[in-house]
Amino acid sequence: MKPTNPVFTGINTTVFETMSRLAMAHGAVNLGQGFPDVDGPQDIRQAAASALLEGPNQYPPMLGLPQLREAVAEANRRFYGLDVDPASEVLVTSGATEALADCIFALVSPGDEVVLIEPLYDCYLPLVKQAGGIPVRVRVTPPHWTLDRQALERAFSDKTKAIVLNNPMNPTAKVFSHDELRFIADLCVRHDAYAICDEVYEHLVFDGQAHRPLMTFEGMRERSVRIGSAGKTFSLTGWKVGYITGAAGLLDPVAKAHQWLTFTTPPALQKAVAFGLRKDESYYLGLAGDLMARRDRMAEGLSGLGFAVLPCAATYFLTCGIEGLGLGGTDVEVCETLVRQAGVAAVPVSAFYGADAPTGYIRFCFCKREEVIDEALARLSAFLTAARSESA
Ligand code: PMP
Ligand code: GLN
Repeated sequence: MKPTNPVFTGINTTVFETMSRLAMAHGAVNLGQGFPDVDGPQDIRQAAASALLEGPNQYPPMLGLPQLREAVAEANRRFYGLDVDPASEVLVTSGATEALADCIFALVSPGDEVVLIEPLYDCYLPLVKQAGGIPVRVRVTPPHWTLDRQALERAFSDKTKAIVLNNPMNPTAKVFSHDELRFIADLCVRHDAYAICDEVYEHLVFDGQAHRPLMTFEGMRERSVRIGSAGKTFSLTGWKVGYITGAAGLLDPVAKAHQWLTFTTPPALQKAVAFGLRKDESYYLGLAGDLMARRDRMAEGLSGLGFAVLPCAATYFLTCGIEGLGLGGTDVEVCETLVRQAGVAAVPVSAFYGADAPTGYIRFCFCKREEVIDEALARLSAFLTAARSESA
């Protein structure tokens, strides 16, 4: 038989699904895949339930329900001072993953170069390859995840069609500095490149910092598409409701890709997300504050156990160096050992690289109930104590 598409044939199942399956098989505390273990606000879920019963439950408009597009435009103004036309500059998608596919398929043609920053969220590479694009990888380097500006400058050329920028960044929990964003914006303008901005963690930023979209930098309004996810903003990851903001001329081809991928997103969920986006300041502050407390609880516990916990300015994730544990082995091996023997699932950071990955870091997800965090820490402590006494 003829070969099936090599972009999707024989590749690994995503590390998130793989680790969640292993966690289930071994009865492990799942700190691998990034999802909260408590569902988001009751009033948003109630709005979805009411809308589901009241209907209509038929195809909503292809670009999304007007009330959600208006709420996304309002949120852009409220949080970032961006002036957005809800009718022509907002598109609702079935999650940020679909939004990324829409944007990459609509903007990238075969042979175009696309700049990606490693560690990268795992769907970027296959989507760019499926579009026929040529990935040009640069990286931020642990432990401080500093951006090598010279390497980034070298990665850009007149062949560059786009950069995919994930800010705040998974798995590094890095928030790019204004200076770095300015530098990236200048490169995009200089080389006439688009920016596909994956900003799903825009509201999960800690320590009083505020997110600033690349789109707000000079020259970027017309060349950026900005992606958000209700899954992250409202702790409802299973809903898969996303949204794209972009200039009408860019959003038009993006919507054409969307119409052949999913066409629409369930209307009841769209209504509920529109309600959620209009929540007052206390909701957004409460979300970040609550996550920050969990971050600190887990960071303190992991440091005490010998993990080299890296700084975490945003997202759901703590990345840790594993060298000091004395277990030996790569990140993949250590994650396998921890899920099987300690009963705690994490994710190896090497999964976020195309090639030549560092193998000394693993990622823990901290958007979990306090007792779950404590149970994971107790299991890790028991396992590491036993492992150390064995090797002594
Ligand atoms: N981008 C990043 C950086 C992510 O971490 C995730 C994970 N949820 C997504 C995109 C996908 O978001 P969604 O679930 O809305 O498709
Ligand atoms: N974004 C989530 C993470 O980084 C996973 C989402 C998924 O499993 N597709 O853990």
